Amino acid sequence: MNVYDSGKIAACLVRLGYQQTGMLEIADLVIVNTCTIRAKAEQKAFSFLGRLARLKTKKPGLIIGVGGCVAQQEGEKILRRVPQVDLVFGTQAIERLSLLIPKIEDKRCRIVDVGLMEKPDLPDAVPDRLIDDPVSAFVTIMRGCDNFCTYCVVPHVRGREASRHPDRIIKEIGDLVQSGVKEVTLLGQNVNSYGKKEGLCSFANLLSRVNSIDGLLRIRFTTSHPKDFGSDVINAFKTYEKVCDHIHLPVQSGSDRILDRMNRKYTRALYLDKISELRDNCSAIAITSDIIVGFPGETEADFAETLDLINTIQFDGLFAFVYSDRPNAPAMHFKNKISEDEKRKRLQAVLALQENVTRMKNQALVGSVQPILVEGVSKKQSSGRFKRPLTTAQWTGRTPTNKIVNFYHTDSRQRRADIFPGKIVRTRIEEAYAHSLWGEPVGLKSTTGGLKGEESYAA
Ligand code: SF4
Repeated sequence: MNVYDSGKIAACLVRLGYQQTGMLEIADLVIVNTCTIRAKAEQKAFSFLGRLARLKTKKPGLIIGVGGCVAQQEGEKILRRVPQVDLVFGTQAIERLSLLIPKIEDKRCRIVDVGLMEKPDLPDAVPDRLIDDPVSAFVTIMRGCDNFCTYCVVPHVRGREASRHPDRIIKEIGDLVQSGVKEVTLLGQNVNSYGKKEGLCSFANLLSRVNSIDGLLRIRFTTSHPKDFGSDVINAFKTYEKVCDHIHLPVQSGSDRILDRMNRKYTRALYLDKISELRDNCSAIAITSDIIVGFPGETEADFAETLDLINTIQFDGLFAFVYSDRPNAPAMHFKNKISEDEKRKRLQAVLALQENVTRMKNQALVGSVQPILVEGVSKKQSSGRFKRPLTTAQWTGRTPTNKIVNFYHTDSRQRRADIFPGKIVRTRIEEAYAHSLWGEPVGLKSTTGGLKGEESYAA
């Protein structure tokens, strides 16, 4: 969501006459788009603001803005904590940036704009934004959240749930495809409840409409809430060929007692039922999840249930975090906090267990041929594990199941033009690692459609 918002902020600055730079020292204006979901993210933002404050002592004309969830949460307090900051703007103030920044430029005043509407106006127009990735783009389909999980600040800093009209979403994706984008990720805090409040179409219907956009190759979406994740969306993996075989379904804990304290509104049994239905409908599906360890009151027995759930489900990947108190989230007032040492211990146990499972799952792919959507030349171009001439490009892309595959394009009989960002390349998986796969392209004839599966690829 923040990447998406940053694109909108960048587009607004370009309209105001600014140019992007990768060199902080020469910037006239810096916006820090913050996240407050965990204490660590907030600490990082303030540490970066400290660096900017030092820079401003050498360059007094520098304008420093703070946006995003920390800005929404802390408001004026940021101006007191970091006196060098000129602008604090909340999650619903991005649309007003084009008015706020000229005021600061002209009057050198300091502004705080953190108004949060109960029913936010989602601009009807397709948002103007700069996109770094030419192949894959995020598209926000809704904002805010009504779920109030007890550890989470999102409903407090992003407001109540509101969905965009499907026609606007389809138009935005159509425009992205025209500009060369091949894959979209539909974004929302709880995409499964898309449109319900407003009486718009269901999320499954939206997927059906996105699936029919010509030129789009792949559809992903995040995040799904298990309580709202219905059979219609589960069936979409089978029905719509562009919907990728990957679901991120946060479970957070394997203990019903903790799930209840988290206000997640589902049980371990219900979550397991959803996983079974998913795998029955789509045997290739990759499942990833989130886990919070050390939630207040989490006993050894509760934690053992989480480990047992991870073992039972065998996720393809897991994002595990230690619980941290967040301002405004009810759990900060819960008793029986877990010590930092114990939280770290539990985190290590989850990570160690999952690493084995991930390696095993990746290993099982060795020998298979996967359709890879090429994203570009790998950042590790020159540090490839195989010693190849540096003139040989190391490319990177993803399987429909969202696994990263790196490969060299080595066959001198094939033209370099056969591989480019946005191309689907059939790749035989040669080696598996903890976080990626290594492959070799097999046959590079042009392909036209059916790009989720393998059957339409020429060998
Ligand atoms: S569903 Fe829960 S965890 Fe997710 S954004 Fe909403 S309140 Fe936060």
